[in-house]
Amino acid sequence: MDIKIYGHNEENAVREVIMSFFTNLEGISVESSLTQNDGRVLVFTKIKIGENEWEENYTQRAEDDRQIRNAIKKSAFLCAKKISKNPVPWGILTGIRPVKAAFNYFKEGYSKEEVKEVFKNEYFVSDEKTDLVLKIYEKEKEIIKNMNNSAVSLYIGIPFCPSRCVYCSFLSSSSFTKGIFQDYLNALIKEIGLVTKHISDLGKRVETIYFGGGTPTVATSSDFKRIFDALYKNIKPDGIKEITVEAGRPDTIDYEKLKTLKELGTTRIGINPQSMNDETLKTIGRHHTREDILKAFEIAREAQIPCINSDVIAGLPNETLDDFKRTLDEVISLSPENISVHTMYIKRASKLKEEITDISMDYHKEVTNMIHYAYNRLSESFYEPYYMYKQKRTVGNLENIGFSKEGFECLYNIYMMEEFQTVIGLGAGSTTKILYGDRHERFYNVKEVKEYILRLDEQISKKLVSF
Ligand code: SF4
Repeated sequence: MDIKIYGHNEENAVREVIMSFFTNLEGISVESSLTQNDGRVLVFTKIKIGENEWEENYTQRAEDDRQIRNAIKKSAFLCAKKISKNPVPWGILTGIRPVKAAFNYFKEGYSKEEVKEVFKNEYFVSDEKTDLVLKIYEKEKEIIKNMNNSAVSLYIGIPFCPSRCVYCSFLSSSSFTKGIFQDYLNALIKEIGLVTKHISDLGKRVETIYFGGGTPTVATSSDFKRIFDALYKNIKPDGIKEITVEAGRPDTIDYEKLKTLKELGTTRIGINPQSMNDETLKTIGRHHTREDILKAFEIAREAQIPCINSDVIAGLPNETLDDFKRTLDEVISLSPENISVHTMYIKRASKLKEEITDISMDYHKEVTNMIHYAYNRLSESFYEPYYMYKQKRTVGNLENIGFSKEGFECLYNIYMMEEFQTVIGLGAGSTTKILYGDRHERFYNVKEVKEYILRLDEQISKKLVSF
């Protein structure tokens, strides 16, 4: 896509709006120009595809940067809508966390009706999605009443996987070799030790811990014992409300490992089928079957892990609405406490992106129907939405959403997503987000494993002086 902008610098905002309508951007040229006069803006957008052109002149009052950016996005949105019939229910709400936006408006004193108005008129969000945001807002508002404001959460990254899924752009996922892994573990344990000592010296508590990846359960039981030893040397286990370990690939777990994790304090694991269709699993490069998922559930229940999350994806390659229904129905029958429904999205570096040339309107509709089915079916089965996020380049600009049975909502997901609590990231590719009142600062550990090991001390020092 070729974008030319005049009179403003919001090229990315225009790009995001256009991308929520079209996935194949080849041959699309966009022109966006802004003129301002006496508190009003006029935004002209022209989209050209081949010999055809569409135009939109949009004008409104705009007094601050946010309103000007929104006017630019609205003009691009209205112009793209003349061409594409794809449903874009989130309107111009791109690059913004919807529930966090709602929290901010309520904090500024808006009433519920006013927030609804803003979502509808300022962001072009559908009534259905606005209601969803408000429902999640109410749920999270209740949950954070019990949050310890001075505590922190930890994210521990283990960026290794047994094989690479085709939709993954993750850097080191296919580089699982014993040698590198043990070096990585040694570095990670050093970082955990020094950072948790600092947390304890400051008199702070750790409220939640999240092991993400990759697939952290590529680590053995004795690897986990070393990691937890390093953690518990400095932080009191009794203050921790929740420990999640992503165990996404069933080929990385057995009863003994899950029992060890439970004994070490794990309260929640993720067993992620993505699809219960063996053909699809092969296509997307996951080395497990539907049968393996059933077994994984059996051993997790036997190990008495209190909360299981299962991820499913709407819009996987070659899957129809019926395939998705079968997956979701079967996952519900396994009765995990949490189910996360993701929308297929194509990450920049993924293998799938190289293969996809176009995504048709029928596909957009099919994915939208899958999401509708998920809401209805999960609600009938007593799962309620409790957190959500949107990713750029999602098909139809749809959302990823976490559902939970009452009382099993993942605290870490809420604290991290809405920026309610400081999250300290440990390990390669992790992000640290330190909150100072309404402001926050981010630090990134390097992504590449070898680089992380080499530059470990520098990354630890940066963190220790920042909080
Ligand atoms: S399990 Fe997750 S991190 Fe690992 S390759 Fe698949 S998508 Fe990537």
